[in-house]
Amino acid sequence: MVAIAYEEIVKAPKALLHDHLDGGLRPATVVELAEAVGHRLPATDPAELGRWFVESADSGSLERYLETFAHTVAVMQTEDALFRVAAECALDLAADGVVYAEVRYAPEQHLEQGLRLEQVVESVLAGFESGAAQAAGAGRPIRIGTLLTAMRHAARSQEIAELSVRYRDHGVVGFDIAGAEAGFPPTRHLDAFEYLQRENSHFTIHAGEAFGLPSIWQAIQWCGADRLGHGVRIVDDITVGEQPVLGRLAAYVRDKRIPLELCPSSNVQTGAAASIAEHPIGLLRDLRFRVTVNTDNRLMSGTSMSREMALLVEAFGYGWAELQWFTINAMKSAFIPFDERLAIINETIKPAYAKLLG
Ligand SMILES: [Zn+2]
Repeated sequence: MVAIAYEEIVKAPKALLHDHLDGGLRPATVVELAEAVGHRLPATDPAELGRWFVESADSGSLERYLETFAHTVAVMQTEDALFRVAAECALDLAADGVVYAEVRYAPEQHLEQGLRLEQVVESVLAGFESGAAQAAGAGRPIRIGTLLTAMRHAARSQEIAELSVRYRDHGVVGFDIAGAEAGFPPTRHLDAFEYLQRENSHFTIHAGEAFGLPSIWQAIQWCGADRLGHGVRIVDDITVGEQPVLGRLAAYVRDKRIPLELCPSSNVQTGAAASIAEHPIGLLRDLRFRVTVNTDNRLMSGTSMSREMALLVEAFGYGWAELQWFTINAMKSAFIPFDERLAIINETIKPAYAKLLG
């Protein structure tokens, strides 16, 4: 098989479901915004700061990992800063060939300078709109949906869930909970999930990243999650041998086509996988789970959607057929309406890959 050139992957249309707004800033923007608000950074040269983010996330120390987000969140406390970060996010994703993205963030983390939740949401939506319009003007159309995240250690999930419903006709397409899994099971936020189900809303739950099967089981069977944020630990319910044997939970996830938002580089950094080559994505794809490929935190992982795809091509020998499969899986699992998903699949993704597949 002919190896795929990186530039070709960039040009191919891609869909992204799991990307954190506060994990994807440009280093130069962090420097400028920090200067404007007098926030002290560990480095003020953009290249050096970029390396600091990746090294800190790589360090294996949870404290240093969390410190990276303390810096990005600190510079995202005004309407202008939120607008700019969102606009640049749309531009960067579009430049990387992403045609559909769901980007998430926790509005409750952007209230330190007195903003109201609504101001936070509206600034980010306006930023995405502006960035997407600029990208379209440059011949790189992208559709962005927002997911509102509640922090699992906090107690605002109901409020954030209501916020996501209030803005669902204005670009918010779903809800999520994130933060430390151990000690904060998703059932703590059951009220919010039941509310969303009654509102016919969509949500994903960060589960099965650091913590194993009980977290995944709760997210699906108690909370009713549409998708699993990571979900990579579902492999703990698969016995690998001559014929892999699926436990009941793994079988349920596969039978119901529950999408797994896998984030290869991020998992290697946090120790959820030893290396890309040993990442369970290989096994899960072979078993035809509804696997999607995602970036998680582009700044902290020094990555992009194209880079994640390229790493998989290198580690598993994937070709265009597999990259198309990942992309269509993601698009099928998106939270926008069915007819809009279908239009992107049939009018953008399939024609482009048909050419690449020859
Ligand atoms: Zn995440």
